[in-house]
Amino acid sequence: MVRDSKINAYATLGGIIFINSALLEQAESPEEIAGILAHEISHVSNRDILQGFLVHLFTIEGIKILISGSIGVDLANNFLNMNFTKSQEAKADKDGLARLEKAQISNQGIKDFFKRMQQSNFATIFLSDHPSNQARIEMAKHYHHYESKPIMTEDEWKILKNFCRN
Ligand SMILES: [Zn+2]
Repeated sequence: MVRDSKINAYATLGGIIFINSALLEQAESPEEIAGILAHEISHVSNRDILQGFLVHLFTIEGIKILISGSIGVDLANNFLNMNFTKSQEAKADKDGLARLEKAQISNQGIKDFFKRMQQSNFATIFLSDHPSNQARIEMAKHYHHYESKPIMTEDEWKILKNFCRN
């Protein structure tokens, strides 16, 4: 978890996934967070992060980082600015949904999240770096219904929501 006012989540090398506090605060159900995590986990397992990072290394920015030696902060920013290809995004969406189904977690959460983001004026990195929300809602529409179980109790969800407030 990162205290940050931007609604965003991203994965870095080694499969570490960061969730900004703003993303958690606006989330209306644990299934929304699960859907976002499933998407990011798919980027990791599809090796999109490594590929994106290697591509980035050969850009001017990447070379500057290598020369300056200030890997820490610059490297973190690199992951924030990472642009995946449309096909990488589509695959992470598809695999993410499959992941949810396998875990019997409702895909309603991720549908709700994208719908809400689209209707609001949030300028978010997560959304600008990703395919259009309309495309995602369309895709989710085609996804079939299956048996799902709640992943958290109301109390657990409250504790998680308040995690970054203290
Ligand atoms: Zn993505």
